[in-house]
Amino acid sequence: MEQQKAAHVALVVTPGMGHLIPVLEFAKRINQIEMHKFTCTLIIPTRGPLSKSEKLFLESLPNGIDFIALPPVNFDDLECVENIKAETRIVLNVRRSLPSLRDAMRSLVGTKRVVALVVDLFGTDAFDVAMELNISPYIFFPTNAMNLSLFLYMQELDQKVSCEYKESTTPIEIPGCFPIHGRDLLEPLQDRKNDAYKWTLHVASKYKLAEGIMVNTFQDLEPGAMNALQELGHPRIYPIGPLVQNASKSSPNCECINWLNEQPVGSVLYVSFGSGGTLSYDQMIELAMGLELSEQRFLWVIRSPNTVANGTYFGFQNQDPKALLPNGFLDRVKGRGFLVSDWAPQAQILSHDSTGGFLSHCGWNSTLESVVNGIPLIAWPLYAEQRSNAVMLTQDLKVALRPKVSKDGLVKTVEIANIVKDLMEGESGKQVRYRMRDLKVAAEKVLRPGGSSTKAIADLAFLWTTKKTM
Ligand code: UDP
Repeated sequence: MEQQKAAHVALVVTPGMGHLIPVLEFAKRINQIEMHKFTCTLIIPTRGPLSKSEKLFLESLPNGIDFIALPPVNFDDLECVENIKAETRIVLNVRRSLPSLRDAMRSLVGTKRVVALVVDLFGTDAFDVAMELNISPYIFFPTNAMNLSLFLYMQELDQKVSCEYKESTTPIEIPGCFPIHGRDLLEPLQDRKNDAYKWTLHVASKYKLAEGIMVNTFQDLEPGAMNALQELGHPRIYPIGPLVQNASKSSPNCECINWLNEQPVGSVLYVSFGSGGTLSYDQMIELAMGLELSEQRFLWVIRSPNTVANGTYFGFQNQDPKALLPNGFLDRVKGRGFLVSDWAPQAQILSHDSTGGFLSHCGWNSTLESVVNGIPLIAWPLYAEQRSNAVMLTQDLKVALRPKVSKDGLVKTVEIANIVKDLMEGESGKQVRYRMRDLKVAAEKVLRPGGSSTKAIADLAFLWTTKKTM
């Protein structure tokens, strides 16, 4: 009787749109496996009401997927929360939500056949609840195999290197990956005295407790890192990517799509720093002037300037950034430039025929959305794992151009104009475009019936559905 109930998967989503979007796509993917009829619950630790963009995604969930927003946790005991690094805030949010997560999981287990508790990259403290309730613990890793390899190697690296990684004179050799400079490692590893380092090491130390790890990549994209991960033997690794937002999802903000409809094929550079990325005021002005000088068409998702590179990670600011642009800028670029200061329908933009390039912060979801659409990149990393992604995209995969940063830390107007022209019209742009098209074809292949990612999902589904529960 018990085995006739649909298998149910609980997924804990840590704060950040870059986590929610791919976890939801993963839930949709297993929910669509007809043979097994899975249902899913997304469980969301919170610190306050859900943001506008979170609501946009959670209010239109397909049948079989629901969500629980856990009661907000309190951070009143922490001094200057705004100055605490994002990774620390995320891990504390999960830890302080464990009692309500336990209650939510108990009531799910009471009514459903829960076959797995899946957490994302910073959520492994929730494994305590999985163990208590005898539910199989899994990780959905929303970024790439290179960074997963780093997470699984982090304890050893911590022992091997005694100085700050950025000061290391030898490159860091993440298993299966090309050597990388310490300054290009994950942002919370950049200051080993900061709590964010301690918490990242802590969550990574629990990765080996997982029964399996689903990673949003595919074999042909990262063969070295994937092979190194498979060689570990445990946990079992499932490369299930590229999982990206569905471009057909309707969006309330379609003026930019109407504008794109009127532009020539492949002529528009899309400029966006993801859900959380912000530039300093000076850098925003250089970017505006560079885009103007390039004489190319552009669609820019502009955010209020901030001295912190992830200034909108925990929600958008209300100030209108357009008011801060150089005098007359909007008039001078009228017709060939379009600005969006709210949530942009990025999946639709990148799949639009008029889009020909993407100036990106190299967040992994944005990167994969570019890959599946064959759109070459200008790599402009800001925080999290974006620097290592940028190195991979420019030096290893060679699908991105990277602007030079001046001594004062800014990318200057002329450099921006030149690199934008180069990507959209130049010879190096042509080269990266060809290589990105090859990746697009490889991505299509793994997602077809019988493709490696389709097979990895099917293996996982079979395992879960045949699992005996208490
Ligand atoms: N995104 C979007 N509209 C925006 C900003 C971001 O749809 O205005 C989506 C984007 O398509 C991607 C996700 O938000 O799916 C951002 O994830 P990514 O890993 O690229 O960067 P993060 O925001 O986590 O830094």
